[in-house]
Amino acid sequence: MSHAWLSSPILAQLNSGVIVIDDEYQIHYLNAFIERHASVQLSEVQGKSIFSVFADLPEAWLKRKLMSVLDLNTPAFSSWEQRQYIFKLPHLRPITSSSQYMAQNCSMLPLVSDQTDQPLICILIEDATDAFVYQQHLSKTLIELERANRQDGLTKVLNRRYWEEQLKQEIHRAQRYHHPLSLILFDLDKFKDLNDKYGHLGGDFVLIQLASFISSLLRDSDLFGRYGGEEFGIILPDTGLEGAVEVAERICQAVAEYPMLFNQQTIRASISMGVAELLPKQHLLHDDVIRCADMALYNAKRAGRNRVCSYLAGETEYQKKVN
Ligand code: GH3
Ligand code: MG
Ligand code: MG
Repeated sequence: MSHAWLSSPILAQLNSGVIVIDDEYQIHYLNAFIERHASVQLSEVQGKSIFSVFADLPEAWLKRKLMSVLDLNTPAFSSWEQRQYIFKLPHLRPITSSSQYMAQNCSMLPLVSDQTDQPLICILIEDATDAFVYQQHLSKTLIELERANRQDGLTKVLNRRYWEEQLKQEIHRAQRYHHPLSLILFDLDKFKDLNDKYGHLGGDFVLIQLASFISSLLRDSDLFGRYGGEEFGIILPDTGLEGAVEVAERICQAVAEYPMLFNQQTIRASISMGVAELLPKQHLLHDDVIRCADMALYNAKRAGRNRVCSYLAGETEYQKKVN
């Protein structure tokens, strides 16, 4: 070896990989860290091309990098955030990340030989798996937090706060682009009786089952949220009153025909639904639209439950008109 410092025990003990290659990509040196992780021996790979010893290297990309190091005589870097790894080395940790390979920060440094004119490059490979694993945990936690922040804990539909925020945004969008928008509010019928008969757990079970069943009947663009205890809301973007009533009728009927098996008993439930439409020229606030749908829902209850009522423009009191 032309470089005396390569025989230094410091390199052998370094907790990072060191590989020295020449301008034809032939290996001059690699340290014990690389020997250990890649299961190779310096004596066996010396003089061989780095691309034949490490067959998984991104050859075209790495050659471009190495060329620039030689041509410009300046270092080049690659971080794990850009490219998780360059050398496919297994990491020696318990399985804590989705990748079994060592995440790496790599530096490629130009070296000037003290004996020959042949240019050399030192590739320094730092193990960045800890940072990679930490970042993975962090992203996962953030995604979970974001979901928890908008989800109702029991039924997994949107929670009230997030749902109301969506309603405000959808009203804004509908008014701005003159698109129709409808709102359905519904409430379980005689839910107190159901709780009394099957217990609170039975009641919770019904809420979970129905929320999931009704979700399956909706379009992806519909926004389904839990408004209160056993009261829910569905925002239907780009849907006028007629379309929304059709959707509500379909859900109402499907729920009434949906048997739920709880503790070997079949529970049946029904819902009452109120539908309101945001008229394009009305400048209503989200509270107003909710109030209109609530009025229609109240009418559905008064008219005997297990049915759909719609709010008609100009209506100002409950029970003005029942479908
Ligand atoms: P109505 O047809 O008029 O709506 O009759 P109802 O019995 O459903 O009447 P109301 O809406 O006043 O009662 C709702 C009941 O729902 C009262 C409350 O104990 C129950 N409830 C609210 N939230 C939950 C919940 O998360 N789980 C369970 N199991 N019950 C709930
Ligand atoms: Mg109820
Ligand atoms: Mg209620």
